Amino acid sequence: MNITEIMAGLQAKYGNEKEYLQAVREVLETIEDVYNEHPEFEAAKIVERIVEPDRIFTFKVTWVDDSGEIQTNTGYRVQFNSAIGPYKGGLRFHPSVNLSILKFLGFEQIFKNALTTLPMGGGKGGSDFNPKGKSDAEIMRFCQAFMLELWRNIGPDTDVPAGDVGVGGREIGFLFGMYKKLAREHTGVLTGKGMTWGGSLIRPEATGFGAVYFVQHMLHLQNKDIKGKTVAISGFGNVAWGAAMKATQLGAKVIAISGPDGAIYDPEGMNDEKIAYMLELRRSNNDVVAPFADKFPAATFYPGKKAWSIKCDIAMPCAYQNEMSGQDAEELISNGTWCCAEVSNMGCTPEAIAAFQKAEILFAPGKAVNAGGVATSGLEMTQNAMHISWSAEDVDKKLHEIMSNIHEACVRYGKQPDGYVNYVKGANIAGFMKVATAMLEQGVI
Ligand code: GLU
Repeated sequence: MNITEIMAGLQAKYGNEKEYLQAVREVLETIEDVYNEHPEFEAAKIVERIVEPDRIFTFKVTWVDDSGEIQTNTGYRVQFNSAIGPYKGGLRFHPSVNLSILKFLGFEQIFKNALTTLPMGGGKGGSDFNPKGKSDAEIMRFCQAFMLELWRNIGPDTDVPAGDVGVGGREIGFLFGMYKKLAREHTGVLTGKGMTWGGSLIRPEATGFGAVYFVQHMLHLQNKDIKGKTVAISGFGNVAWGAAMKATQLGAKVIAISGPDGAIYDPEGMNDEKIAYMLELRRSNNDVVAPFADKFPAATFYPGKKAWSIKCDIAMPCAYQNEMSGQDAEELISNGTWCCAEVSNMGCTPEAIAAFQKAEILFAPGKAVNAGGVATSGLEMTQNAMHISWSAEDVDKKLHEIMSNIHEACVRYGKQPDGYVNYVKGANIAGFMKVATAMLEQGVI
């Protein structure tokens, strides 16, 4: 494989899609050695084919806001790769959404989903719709208008969307309601559904829980335990909430959370009340963490700061792509942080990853650490297909097993001669091998 040539070709075609190019480059650089040991991949042009989405839908979404004004947004669905199963991946509603972001997310999703051990291909979608400050009625009208376009292109055996940033249980409800009305079918076409209409127990918690289970495995390999460790988390959405809850349950102290407005430092750590309040903050649709410090006297709000300026043992970015820069990573390292588990998709810039790896600090990428979310979506699909629902204990046990398998796969492919585990390499190779083999076996399509 000639990475320079492939990247130059993509650059010429998609030069303005910087997140997509960043995600592709990272995967190609880490799989290069293994790829070159397989001339059959090269002959079948697997890399050239895997970097190109199968198809992309772009559509107009018009809706009427509460003041009667007509609003127009753009909707997308990127069906990236279906070699190992139906397209699967979330929908993101955020003003930053564009094709570059959805292509990077869809590309990462291919390998993440392969890592889960479940039969799911990779896809992603969303809109530049901004949920901030919108009423429930506006959210509903937008979701309905979005589904009015999308519904013909998805289905329980073709493409199964779910939530992502800006899309949670409420949005999935509105989206599902409209799908059901149009398709006249009650099927598992979306995951993250409500518990009384096909949702899976533990799905809301799964991304955060799975991430903490993964951290536990990383720590155990180093003969360490999460108990008593300090944790800084960015974000206060569904993922940060699940991670804060599980880390706290296991005896860690979550001393920092953050939002677009700044960071909260709470030396006493989280408890049930504070964790529940994270959800309340999110539900307000205001995208701010500052009120946390008004409610809990031990907490201090630092306007404009990131969680990474706070001294901690373990850092868990749970917000957006590229939220941790090289400089942030250096600050964490100099403050004594010895583990960073990326929970957001591509949450760390290449410079941040390089800094962690250079310092031989435990670092694992989002596609391994956050795979518990989509894995539990896969378990939701299984339950829907079987018309049954499993208990919370059963789902949690399966999630544990899946995270343990993912960790093992990362170590298998990522362990360096000096014993340091390059989890980025491990995750990319393990995911890639599975998809590449499936593509090879299915011929040129
Ligand atoms: N958006 C989540 C992710 O990045 C979940 C996707 C899903 O459950 O399909 O993996």
